Amino acid sequence: MRQKTTLKVMLVDDEPFMLKLLGRQLENLGFSSPWAYTNGHEALKALAGPLGEPDLILLDLNMPEIDGIEFVRQLGEQRFEGSLILVSGEDERLMQAASTLVRAHGIGLIGHLNKPASYEALAALLDPWKPPKVTRPHSANVQYDADTLAAAIANGELVNYYQPKVAVADGRVVGVETLVRWRHPVDGLVFPDQFIGVAEANGQIDALTRVVLMEALAQTKVWNDAALALRVAVNLSMDNLRTLDFANFIADQAAVVGVPPSVVVLEVTESRLMEDLRTPLELLTRLRLKRFRLSIDDFGTGHSSLSQLRDLPFNELKIDRSFVHRAWENDTLSAIFDASLHMAHQIGMEVVAEGVEDREDWNFLRRSGCDLAQGYFIARPMPAAELPAWIESWNQRLRDPAAGLV
Ligand code: C2E
Ligand code: MG
Ligand code: MG
Repeated sequence: MRQKTTLKVMLVDDEPFMLKLLGRQLENLGFSSPWAYTNGHEALKALAGPLGEPDLILLDLNMPEIDGIEFVRQLGEQRFEGSLILVSGEDERLMQAASTLVRAHGIGLIGHLNKPASYEALAALLDPWKPPKVTRPHSANVQYDADTLAAAIANGELVNYYQPKVAVADGRVVGVETLVRWRHPVDGLVFPDQFIGVAEANGQIDALTRVVLMEALAQTKVWNDAALALRVAVNLSMDNLRTLDFANFIADQAAVVGVPPSVVVLEVTESRLMEDLRTPLELLTRLRLKRFRLSIDDFGTGHSSLSQLRDLPFNELKIDRSFVHRAWENDTLSAIFDASLHMAHQIGMEVVAEGVEDREDWNFLRRSGCDLAQGYFIARPMPAAELPAWIESWNQRLRDPAAGLV
């Protein structure tokens, strides 16, 4: 038994026997006796009552009156800030779907328990768990207005970070992806999710991309002159591909700075349906003719990834991180991963796995035959100035037999 905690726990399960069993297991784990409900409606009512929110809810998915899925939706609507464990006898894929749903509601999911829940399984979930201390930041929802963003672009407040892409076979650093950040004078470092959409919606994405691209090209030149041969990727929005002169702009800038097109990778995501593909098609084909490298980003999540593959001359395919992270333990993910990899190889494309977050992900890739890897396990995005030192330490990690990377 671990130390007694004062954390509040709620159990919701229509079987009284399960309530008793889980209640006893929780007490053995050091929790005080949980609030137990056989009916979801009553549990929800209690949540809004004077006892306040529990720190943790163990929730049965299959209940007669209000099932676990609806319960989760209502938790989401109430902005429940505690953590959740799903309990069910359902199969793994259904549990995965329910887990995805919980996270989509912004609820902290600790994991799931298969019925009949064992003490060991519950302990394994709860031992490493720490309740979130602060309330979840809602700052991710802050959207900036167009004028503020325009000023930021004009004032040089956008800065490029670079995340390494390494070869899976030998760990060699092959290139970097440019990821823009906004050094906001008050809010600190702001991530692209909070302003790319604003730029797209207000006709500012060309200006933004130009700034990012010029900086990235200048940086590539610096690295190449310092004998750091790196490919540098830049993200393009579909909205950048609406006017043909964007192709000329990219080609002219590369020529002026003195960077060969073959080391420039243009990553394209289709964020929403495009009515007319003729202009993007022509633009990308012309860039390809000039020997720029084209990459299809977030593969597997777009609206028509397969038709893009059919129509556009891509060199590289980036499998979205939602099919990479934890694919080693999930048959559905690994099947989708393998199929994407195989298809891309068959049409002669190089494959990048995004979202390689931990050692298990890396080991999975080593077995998979994937070409390149990118993710927190290798490195987080960093300012250009930090890259040489990072490469140094990465090479040391590679040479260290104890690290066992390659
Ligand atoms: P993306 O192009 O798919 O870039 C990868 C994103 O995943 C980056 O988020 C990166 O920091 C993050 N990431 C990298 N490794 C991991 C990992 O192991 N785990 C997890 N969970 N995430 C990882 P970031 O920098 O916040 O960028 C988000 C998106 O914003 C990018 O997705 C890209 O679509 C867009 N973006 C970034 N910079 C630009 C830009 O200059 N122009 C345009 N149009 N879009 C940009
Ligand atoms: Mg990208
Ligand atoms: Mg991506």
